[in-house]
Amino acid sequence: CKQKTCKVAKDNLLLILLVVALGLGIGVGAAVRSANLSEREQMYFRFPGDLLMRMLKALIIPLITSSLISGLAGLDAKASGKLGLYAIVYYMSTTLIAVLLGILLVSTIKPGSRINIESEGSADKGNIADSFLDLISYNLELNHTLDINANKTVHYIQTKTYQVPREEAVNITVGVNCTEDVTPNPDAIYDFDVRKEDGMNVLGLVVYSVAMGIVISRLGEIGRPLYIFFNAFAEATMVLVTAVIWYSPIGILFLVASEIIEMEDPVGELESLGLYIATVMTGLAIHGIIILPLMYFVIVRKNPYTYLYRTLQALLTALGTASSSATLPVTYRCLEENNHVDPRVTRFVLPVGATINMDGTALYEAVAAIFIAQMRGIHLNAANIVAASITSTLASVGAASVPQAGIVTMVIVLTALGLPADDVTKILAVDWMLDRFRTMVNVEGDSIGAGIVEHLARHELRRTAPVEMYIEDGK
Ligand code: ASP
Repeated sequence: CKQKTCKVAKDNLLLILLVVALGLGIGVGAAVRSANLSEREQMYFRFPGDLLMRMLKALIIPLITSSLISGLAGLDAKASGKLGLYAIVYYMSTTLIAVLLGILLVSTIKPGSRINIESEGSADKGNIADSFLDLISYNLELNHTLDINANKTVHYIQTKTYQVPREEAVNITVGVNCTEDVTPNPDAIYDFDVRKEDGMNVLGLVVYSVAMGIVISRLGEIGRPLYIFFNAFAEATMVLVTAVIWYSPIGILFLVASEIIEMEDPVGELESLGLYIATVMTGLAIHGIIILPLMYFVIVRKNPYTYLYRTLQALLTALGTASSSATLPVTYRCLEENNHVDPRVTRFVLPVGATINMDGTALYEAVAAIFIAQMRGIHLNAANIVAASITSTLASVGAASVPQAGIVTMVIVLTALGLPADDVTKILAVDWMLDRFRTMVNVEGDSIGAGIVEHLARHELRRTAPVEMYIEDGK
């Protein structure tokens, strides 16, 4: 029996280490917090965590390119078309369910109705289409400055320097609305920080790799060396991923601890925003623990919790890093090695999912925007609710898979509801925490999606030879 316990512990060592790291991170953070570290000391303290983020991010470009290209090149046109179709239908339906769930909860719990803020700062009638296009180009071009143009809106820049090396800090403009003839109110300007390396052009990379993969699959014999090359490249990258994954508990410990150290007045935040936090968390829990597993069960007819347990490493990494793209390497590993999902599916579905499928973010966008409307005492009619659902979905698609991207894209939801964009400051204080949990649900949505798409496309996949056979052929 003792031997059995040992074996279970050995098999789950990484998972145990991750859980311990998260717990220790909170404990160490709380303890060190009282030491009042200087900015520089905080920067040093954060270093092991930053190292993890950097290593994960270093792997994203090779991983996305090689896996998407080889994944698609290994499929025939019909199979990739089917896979793409299933994936898109899954992404859209689950995102919409998440949004509706969020709206239902926020309208029932009404977390904002007890807090009143003056309705100063008249609603800016920005153009939603413009805002959305800007968000996409933000994702594609990743300027250091995000300028969300709404009609006649002026935007100001305020920088916050992050505790990572100076050159990583970038300016980001978040819409602070005021019409041209009004002098800006300095209090309305708030800071927002995004780290430079977060601004990777993942969406552009995904589009390029999908195109390249499809082209290679059409080239036939001529394309085969490229296929073999990218396939080998993907395999080699996964070996590096494994190495980084063994470092991840240390990195996550320091990431979580430094977040706790840098947190501003935790009690005050909890008091004023407690009900809002509870609403978002309840929504995320219902979506993550009931809805997504139920979908998996109904479609795939297998135990969803076993599947999720085998994905837990990725979910905990999402909690620790607050970035679905930084978690991507771990997600691949969990699905391919632990859950044995066909690599042609994971390679195609995961990078695309990490970029556009964000159930947790969508739910949060809807809850947060309606919460702000409630605080302002604005009654929302049916048309407003429809607009909130659509724009929350768009905002989640437009959000980059990096920490706190969701709060940036929330401007389009606020604009659609006729609320001032700078109202996001009201919820900024607790966003770092909600971000971690919504990222976890985002990664879960992608993982469950891969399992469902694999099941739905099983006939097409059977028709095309699996990756290994192609390599054998190529020898
Ligand atoms: N951090 C989230 C993610 O990477 C995006 C968001 O801010 O909602 O999935």
